[in-house]
Amino acid sequence: MSGQRWGLYVHVPFCRTRCTYCDFNIAIGMTEADHVRYTHALIAELFGKSLPSGPLASIFFGGGTPSLVASELLVGVIDAIRERRGLDETVEITIETNPGTVDEAKLAHWRQAGVNRLSIGAQAMQDDHLRRLNRAHDVQDIVDTVRSARMAGFSNISLDAIYGLPWQTEREWRETVRRLLDFQPEHLSLYQLMIEEGTPMAKRLARGAVRLPDDDRVADMADWAEQALSAAGLMPYEISNYARTGRESVHNQLYWQLEPYLALGAGAHAYLPGRRWWNVRNVRRYMERVEAGSDPVDGEEQLSQAEEMREFLWLGLRQRCGVDVSRFRERFGKSPEAAFAEVLRSLRQSGLLWFDDHSLRLTPRGRDLASVVARALVDAPLRHQVGLSS
Ligand code: SF4
Repeated sequence: MSGQRWGLYVHVPFCRTRCTYCDFNIAIGMTEADHVRYTHALIAELFGKSLPSGPLASIFFGGGTPSLVASELLVGVIDAIRERRGLDETVEITIETNPGTVDEAKLAHWRQAGVNRLSIGAQAMQDDHLRRLNRAHDVQDIVDTVRSARMAGFSNISLDAIYGLPWQTEREWRETVRRLLDFQPEHLSLYQLMIEEGTPMAKRLARGAVRLPDDDRVADMADWAEQALSAAGLMPYEISNYARTGRESVHNQLYWQLEPYLALGAGAHAYLPGRRWWNVRNVRRYMERVEAGSDPVDGEEQLSQAEEMREFLWLGLRQRCGVDVSRFRERFGKSPEAAFAEVLRSLRQSGLLWFDDHSLRLTPRGRDLASVVARALVDAPLRHQVGLSS
């Protein structure tokens, strides 16, 4: 993989509260001293790693809430990466930012340090919904955060929102989308609510305390949003993501194109062709391991060529441009059709997939039933795939 571009994910697990739908690896109630200790561990982990020789294309601080941490601590991590690797303005550097956790001084400090993209978790533009989701901010915080970000010079802002919430009407969803568009963001991520096992949301649903909107209503919300965003110049380029031309997320594209990424932090996952591995999840155990000079890696899996082909296909199909057949062939030495003839033909017959000799794409129906397509690819029996060893 020498010469191939790669990305770096940095996990910052701290949050003020746990949102009702969230099952991410986070830590609540950590002190500033913990933040200092953790960011020192990130730097120590970075210096203990061998890095790929190709160009670093992106750095993504995700969480958790990276923006909770004092700016000098995150900037310290960026400086360490710069010292280790060298950074120029072509590297996309994103910080996930929650409203109410930043002010103009913090944002300006990030900007000076080379941060050139913010991903702001707005989620909804009604205080009622934010409260019910146990978000640690209100609508005014969203407005103030976007305004401060623009003042600090950020010209690449992404906003996240969720649809299909319990209690959410179509009118409220449209209001959320319109108000987010008023900020003139360069990028929007619109996620359908997923119910994750063990979350407060899942428990409330199980005991009938809340009810989700039906599938048709949720599909209408997604369709309306796509039209509104397209009319505003934000084009869909992945199932949940929209961008102005040239503002597509470099980091996410690395994931969707199954390109290499390394990762720092508790529970963070990394990938190089043929191998995926992850760090110990618990934040304190992660810090102890790194401080003791031990490797924080907690597990790994070797990926067979068959598994990589499946992943390449599924992740690629999430993108509007779909899977480029020549890239697939270059990487795996055969066409997708030669490898997955049966399942691809059956998905095409069901009207979920479109393909020719150059590319494969989900149809609009395939996008609505993306989980069905994913399942079909995952379940495609290995023995039926031409010339593969599993
Ligand atoms: S802020 Fe994000 S990471 Fe933290 S609890 Fe909420 S959804 Fe999870």
